Amino acid sequence: MNHFTNHYRQLPSHFYQVISPEPLIDARLVHYNRSLAAEIGIDLNDQQIRQLTSGEAMPEDFTPLAQKYTGHQFGYYNPDLGDGRGLLLGQTLHNDRSWDLHLKGAGMTPFSRRGDGRAVLRSAVREYLIGEALHYLNVPTTRCLSLCHSPEPVYREKIENRASYIRTAKTHVRFGHFEWLAEINDRASFIQLADYVIELVYPHLADEPESTRYAELLREVCINTAQMIAKWQAVGFCHGVMNSDNMSIAGETFDFGPYAFLDDFKIHYICNHSDSEGRYAYSQQPNIGLWNCQVLGQAFAMLLDSKQIEQALDAYVIHYNQAYLQAMGNKFGLADINENDRDFIADSLILMDQSDIDFHHFFKKLALLESEREQQWNDFIGDSKAWRDWQQTYLARTEKQQREHRQRQIQQQTVDFVLRNHIAQEIIENCESGDYQLLAQTMQWLQTPNNPPSELQNNYRHFLEQPNAAMKGIALSCSS
Ligand code: AMP
Ligand code: MG
Ligand code: MG
Repeated sequence: MNHFTNHYRQLPSHFYQVISPEPLIDARLVHYNRSLAAEIGIDLNDQQIRQLTSGEAMPEDFTPLAQKYTGHQFGYYNPDLGDGRGLLLGQTLHNDRSWDLHLKGAGMTPFSRRGDGRAVLRSAVREYLIGEALHYLNVPTTRCLSLCHSPEPVYREKIENRASYIRTAKTHVRFGHFEWLAEINDRASFIQLADYVIELVYPHLADEPESTRYAELLREVCINTAQMIAKWQAVGFCHGVMNSDNMSIAGETFDFGPYAFLDDFKIHYICNHSDSEGRYAYSQQPNIGLWNCQVLGQAFAMLLDSKQIEQALDAYVIHYNQAYLQAMGNKFGLADINENDRDFIADSLILMDQSDIDFHHFFKKLALLESEREQQWNDFIGDSKAWRDWQQTYLARTEKQQREHRQRQIQQQTVDFVLRNHIAQEIIENCESGDYQLLAQTMQWLQTPNNPPSELQNNYRHFLEQPNAAMKGIALSCSS
């Protein structure tokens, strides 16, 4: 078993409060993510992981603590945030990186405000699944190690099942940590936190002279964030609550709420039912990512001049644009992707939006154009003149490419098994009734999203098909 420690305790004491978890009663282990455990070097057995996840037993080398941070929620600064229902247990170094272990749903902390410090099984299952889904789509993300379910209720809009789970991340430092230190004008602590983040997540910056180290840190955070969001756009992922306290300084997808994968391609799709203005709509994610980086940049004004901050924000735009063009060009099977393809991609998406076309199935069918199964593509687009014209433009653009090569490229980028909201809902209902089998199977299936195993194809065919109208575009609320 690895050696764990909690480095966060080396930081000034106003950064955190040491707290013991309040155990879940009669907790059952829903799932233990053994492939992740192996990556971290953890070799606990089921009984040990159950005890740790339920908060019943805490190994000596963990020091559970609740972190203080602030952040901008829906555009407004909230000074009153922190871990209200989660505890940072500690870190270990393994496979050339640092792993934070964080226990969520472990009871109240000084930052709980009016909350109960608990987690709902429904949201826990959703976070559990999405970490695996994104990871195997090659999107940087936090992931969960283990999940427990307790017969004790929690009270939200209705009575719900209680859960707790362990989340892993490169770090739990958020944009909001730096916003907090800037707000209270604590420059010395700000530098300590920046050096802490460099040591754990950006160690190649440790030898930079002080005059450039923090500018480089901000620039790299902006670049990682930009590249992460470009990947979200390409896989059709909507985060739903991109508040700056939900943005990881490591550029990992973090703090999930009412997230969704797109069903029909809708540029302005809003997955968060509480987001009435569409601040976090699919189309807005790149801009909001930049907005959050600007907020972080303002905090870094403690250490940097305006030119350095501007350069970091420029890097966001440059890297977002590059990564987006490359990822979307790949999806369409384009070779030698260049700036001229930007308009083609944008026009294609507008047409998809106007035609109520499933984002994922579109590419599955596109791969069949100019194959023996071309009829399936023809049936998919129907007798629409707009799509016939589009097809001509597309074939002209890809004329010089080898057909098989293009088709293979599209297939490699196309996701067959998409964790749509109705699928997550079916798994949640199983778990709520005490049947954890489907969750365990799904955790396996998410590992090969482009290549569904026969068990999935034969017995859960509806997980692979286009959802019917009732299952499409389900928007969830923030409540969790
Ligand atoms: P979130 O919307 O999940 O990002 O949470 C926003 C803030 O509310 C964070 O400071 C959370 O720790 C806190 N919070 C959310 N739910 C609860 C809860 N059930 N009990 C205590 N604090 C909570
Ligand atoms: Mg949060
Ligand atoms: Mg949350």
